[in-house]
Amino acid sequence: MKIAKDCAVRIHYHLTDDEGEVIDSSSDHEPLAYLHGHGNLVPGVENALLGHSAGEKLSTVVPPAEGYGEHDPGLDIALDLDVFPDEVRAELQPGLMFKGGHPTEEEQVVSYTIVEVLEDRVHATGNHELAGVNLHFDLEIVEVRAATAEELSHGHIHGPGGHHH
Ligand code: ZN
Repeated sequence: MKIAKDCAVRIHYHLTDDEGEVIDSSSDHEPLAYLHGHGNLVPGVENALLGHSAGEKLSTVVPPAEGYGEHDPGLDIALDLDVFPDEVRAELQPGLMFKGGHPTEEEQVVSYTIVEVLEDRVHATGNHELAGVNLHFDLEIVEVRAATAEELSHGHIHGPGGHHH
């Protein structure tokens, strides 16, 4: 069976950047299970897998536009500590996420991640950590089957490598 929309697919993946540094890999885990055509993987990976079958191996380089987006310097922000409520201020630390307005696009909400907490201000970024990165994927398709009606209604795959409720 070839990969198409509404297929339940299990893949092994090995992801590196332009320098060959490993970003992520499934090699020590179970294969990743995902529902094809529902935005569960970045578009460049789903496009590369489309039409392929179990047992195939392929490599693809996904540019930022089809991955986690371009790095937007406007989303690297500094905020005065004053903007955070008293009870939150003591809890601020790198890695913490909060939602806020987009600096230029009105009405757009951005998820920011705190990068650094200084005495009087906080540096945060609304960029995904892989924004601007070319994603070098080595992919191995382990299994392709039709998704069940329940999986389709949930928008994800159940069982090994997928969601457990
Ligand atoms: Zn579910």
